[in-house]
Amino acid sequence: MDRLIDSHPNQDMRLDGLSYLVRSFGCQMNRHDSERVAGMLDVLGATPVEAVEDADIVVYMTCCVREAADIRAYGQIASLKNMPSPHGRRYVCMGGCIAQRDREGLFKELPNLDVVFGTHNIHAFPALLAHAMETDASQIEILEASTSFSSDLPSHREMDWHAWVPISIGCTNFCTYCVVPYVRGREKSRPFEDIMRELVQLERQGVKEVTFLGQNVNSYGRDLYGKPRFADILKAAGDFDIPRIRFATSHPKDLSHETIQAMASVESVMPQLHLAVQSGSNRILKAMNRPYTIEHYLGLIDEVRQVVGDIALSTDIIVGFPGETQDDFEQTMELCRKVGYSQAFTFIYSRRQGTPAASMPDDTPREVIQERFDRLVELIQETAHAANQAEKGTVQRILVDGPSRRDPNIIAGRSPKNQMVHAPLPEGWCMESLKGSFLDIQIDEARTWYLQGRVIDAI
Ligand code: SAH
Ligand code: SF4
Repeated sequence: MDRLIDSHPNQDMRLDGLSYLVRSFGCQMNRHDSERVAGMLDVLGATPVEAVEDADIVVYMTCCVREAADIRAYGQIASLKNMPSPHGRRYVCMGGCIAQRDREGLFKELPNLDVVFGTHNIHAFPALLAHAMETDASQIEILEASTSFSSDLPSHREMDWHAWVPISIGCTNFCTYCVVPYVRGREKSRPFEDIMRELVQLERQGVKEVTFLGQNVNSYGRDLYGKPRFADILKAAGDFDIPRIRFATSHPKDLSHETIQAMASVESVMPQLHLAVQSGSNRILKAMNRPYTIEHYLGLIDEVRQVVGDIALSTDIIVGFPGETQDDFEQTMELCRKVGYSQAFTFIYSRRQGTPAASMPDDTPREVIQERFDRLVELIQETAHAANQAEKGTVQRILVDGPSRRDPNIIAGRSPKNQMVHAPLPEGWCMESLKGSFLDIQIDEARTWYLQGRVIDAI
């Protein structure tokens, strides 16, 4: 195994004739980083393919937030060992949070790995790959902190019309269950001018939707002498010809009145807010090191509904945090009923080594946690369905993603509230040319996870 010292991209390397696949696990930041890895491979001449079997170069952008994602990544990489590749030799590469955490130890578990890079040095990937190809020896480089934002790298976007725009990286909140601060580093805000420069480019490229990314977008700028703040980014984004602006994730302790005002006043900011609550019990929130109360959270929800108006609310919830009692859990259920979430990402607590919660007493039986989890999922289905029902009879302007997963003749797109909308493709229309365009849909039916309707107009 070689350790690469000089990580300047190898200018001579070409990958023409070789194929690649980038597999992304976990959060939206990984999806953004995956687009950059794909972008660099495009520039070098490699061709994207859909199936691992067809790929000469496979890159896994891994996640270790929960154990399940961890196991899946290890399993998938190990399973490549005996799989033939199109040109005889497959290069197996790993980036993302598992790579950052497990480092050299990975080569022992996964001897078929050729390249390992971390969360702070995506730019080094082409050079590492070139060295691996030249020397036939595994390459690894892990840095302890980021010196630049990967947004300056070339990008191969999943959808031409949508761009992830990181405004900060890392996290300094240290929720007691979470590994993110350890594998993504401390929070670092991206300079405002750089964000604006990227928006200029995206506007020029005709991008229709931008999602600002950060583990906690609301604390943007705290490390930049406090100005500008997140509300200033939203206001500035409103001046661009980019019709839809979204953002994730919001932390209840930092969501400010200014940001809520900006959500209301900037027309292109979509009526959608993901405000992770994690638990409905103040006692558990304290143990999680989430410094807000449910009363404060509900106050924010009221303010958002008053100031912004009709809006889709979504959240993240952990069930079975160490010491969670039945009463704590019932408070989570109560909160969900009160808020009426359109969507919630629900997780069973996963013990992560090295985090403070990993050493907290945890004696709730697995079946009890599973039962709580199932009840919560059922409740969220009810609140999501109710939120969708309210759209019946309305007209929704959707941004078209393409065909639905099940039927090539069903158009799938997103409403302003980010609800999935389905409508039959009108006769004689071409699905391909609709991608990334706006359509008005009359909503006739509301299902739990999507709305159904028909096209009334093309914009
Ligand atoms: N920064 C974002 C979330 C990043 S991780 C935020 O704070 O909102 C995405 C979600 O994974 C978290 O919101 C949490 O609900 C969940 N999560 C994180 N660590 C977890 C763990 N150890 N077990 C179960 N779920 C976890
Ligand atoms: Fe993890 Fe908490 Fe940071 Fe979110 S805010 S990434 S849950 S430590």
